[in-house]
Amino acid sequence: MEEKGVSPLKHFVQAKKAITSIFDQLVGYISDGVTFVEETHRNPELRNITCEGDLKQIQSYRSKLSGIGEVLSRRHMKVAFFGRTSSGKSSVINAMLWDKVLPSGIGHTTNCFLSVEGTDGDKAYLMTEGSEEKKSVKTVNQLAHALHMDKDLEAGCLVHVFWPKAKCALLRDDLVLVDSPGTDVTTELDSWIDKFCLDADVFVLVANSESTLMNTEKHFFHKVNERLSKPNIFILNNRWDASASEPEYMEDVRKQHTERCQSFLVDELKVVDRSEAKDRIFFVSAKEVLSARMHKAQGMPEAGGALAEGFPIRFLEFQRFEKLFEECISQSAVKTKFEQHTIRAKQITDTVKAIMDAINVEAADKRVNAIENREYQVDRLEFIQNQMKILSQEVQKRIVHITEVVNKQVSDAMTDEICHLSLLVDRFDGDFHPSQQFLKHYKNELNGHIEKGMGRKLADRCSAAVNSSIYKAQEDIIENLKPLLPPAVQSEYSTCVSCKKFDLSYNLNCEKLCCDFQEDIEFRFSLGWTSIVNRYLGANNTRMLLGFTEPVFQIPRPVTTPSASCNPAQTPDAVAQEELMVTVMSGLASLTSRGSMGVLIVGGVIWRAVGWKLIACSVLAYGSVYMYERLTWTTRAKERAFKQQFVNYAAQKLQMIVSITSANCSHQVQKELDNIFTKLCQQVDITQRDLLESINRQLEEIRQLEKVQNRSKTLRNKAVHLENELDHFTKLFLNQSK
Ligand code: GDP
Repeated sequence: MEEKGVSPLKHFVQAKKAITSIFDQLVGYISDGVTFVEETHRNPELRNITCEGDLKQIQSYRSKLSGIGEVLSRRHMKVAFFGRTSSGKSSVINAMLWDKVLPSGIGHTTNCFLSVEGTDGDKAYLMTEGSEEKKSVKTVNQLAHALHMDKDLEAGCLVHVFWPKAKCALLRDDLVLVDSPGTDVTTELDSWIDKFCLDADVFVLVANSESTLMNTEKHFFHKVNERLSKPNIFILNNRWDASASEPEYMEDVRKQHTERCQSFLVDELKVVDRSEAKDRIFFVSAKEVLSARMHKAQGMPEAGGALAEGFPIRFLEFQRFEKLFEECISQSAVKTKFEQHTIRAKQITDTVKAIMDAINVEAADKRVNAIENREYQVDRLEFIQNQMKILSQEVQKRIVHITEVVNKQVSDAMTDEICHLSLLVDRFDGDFHPSQQFLKHYKNELNGHIEKGMGRKLADRCSAAVNSSIYKAQEDIIENLKPLLPPAVQSEYSTCVSCKKFDLSYNLNCEKLCCDFQEDIEFRFSLGWTSIVNRYLGANNTRMLLGFTEPVFQIPRPVTTPSASCNPAQTPDAVAQEELMVTVMSGLASLTSRGSMGVLIVGGVIWRAVGWKLIACSVLAYGSVYMYERLTWTTRAKERAFKQQFVNYAAQKLQMIVSITSANCSHQVQKELDNIFTKLCQQVDITQRDLLESINRQLEEIRQLEKVQNRSKTLRNKAVHLENELDHFTKLFLNQSK
């Protein structure tokens, strides 16, 4: 259709595309940023990395940016045409649109503002204010008719005319053209300005070159100038074709108009300086341009119609106006429509970048700390494990040593005490009576007495030493293990207060030990046959010799000295001597048993040899001794004999359990020390478990911090990228603006 190079309006279109794309990215970026900061802020393990203020800040950006893309995509350039009625405003718009879009001419004047904008569809339609209805218009006449017939239209209302973009290049480039009722027909300039002018990028004053600028027109622009800072104003002196009829005055008239217009723009409004003013004042004929362009569109020559002289110059001037207007409006619109957004976007990316930087630094700090902590804890765990290996061996050795010492102490003490058992038994003062019933009770009490006495004596001799070595060992174990314990329990072990007093239990169990004891407190004449044999052969041999068959208790050999009783084992010489005696006496006994004949023969021989007196004396003496012994065999004597027998018996039995008792004691000591060591080991295990848990926690924290660092870094880089994009946009679209 139109023959044009690249339109300067594309500048706005490209800028809009660029800024919309940047804002789309920015919206996505802020959304990612909010998600990240929210996640980090909510994570209890990542406390203090983000602050409430940062979160609120970035959240507020998200809400501010929501829908901004939509707003930007609706941004367009807006040019508003003002002038008196019939100055040719609609004609200028039509000429620019290369088509009769708006009705013009006498009888087509409306009281409404008409905004012409593009539609992607192929059908033109109009929409009136406050209505969603799309009223289809096929021709300009229909549009004019519709505007005249619509009784709902009030003066000063806005009617949107949507014209297919396909038919018009200007509309494709996001330009909206607004036609206004004549400035001479209204008294409501203020409301016009508020409603239609505040977002206009360029104002075009269409003046009738056949007359001079009127005050109504000037007044309007003065008001606009009060509300907007340096509005872009173009003055089109239209109907310049009329000047062709009076060529002799043309230059003068043009000069006069130019001066007045310049003075208006430069001196009165002060919107441009004098040098710029020439590019704002044009002498054109909209009617001619429209007609030429419509001819061209129909395939006819441009200058085909009845055109006044000088058309090409006026046509060129119109094109020059279009070019300068397009340059002005696109650059101005880019600046007014996008500059603030660019600055705001820059501030946002700047702030978010700073937030991401702060998060990154904080996360990096925390990560370094966590790594150091973890390394320290790994070292400590390793140290504890090694220490435990070494200490376990040492403690085991120590325990073995102490148990050996205790074993020896108890063994020595018990052996000693067994030697002094007779003293202990002598001190027993129970009611003794030879009857079986009383004796049983007496034995029980005596057992108890020995148990208690021995226990006390062993305790006196061993417990203090044992306790002290246990105490010392415990103290050493605690001292060594204390640094490895959980800090919370270390104070519990600050001194050996936890070491309770340890009581060795000797557990002799005399009653059971001596349950087989059988006393022999029958009277036995010391010069009697049995006693003599017994004295020389021992009880067992005597029984054999005398033919006893039933088992009787074994009477131990008389104990005369403690040392003798301490060593009941017989030497090989003593055993041989005893065997010899048994042989001799066995022979003697066998001789005596050969019958009374032998006795008589021996008696007769003695009788003859010593005489009856001596025999009588001997018998008497023998009888006296017997009587004496019989009379002195009292209860006390029996008790003494009983005790003696019991001492011998018990000493032997106790001797047998010396090693068991000492082993038992050392076992108790071992158990006690093992217990404390195990208890401490359990606490050390807790330390190790806590350390391991902490190490794993730290590892997880390090991973999370690393993630936070990476994400904050990525987001920071993205902010830098957006900043670069914004800088590039500024350089490309904003810094060029004049
Ligand atoms: P508006 O009321 O300002 O929109 O003016 P119009 O565009 O409706 O024009 C009013 C009348 O002036 C119409 O009959 C046009 O044909 C005519 N007209 C517009 N521009 C020119 C022009 O440049 N030269 C001449 N001779 N007539 C014009």
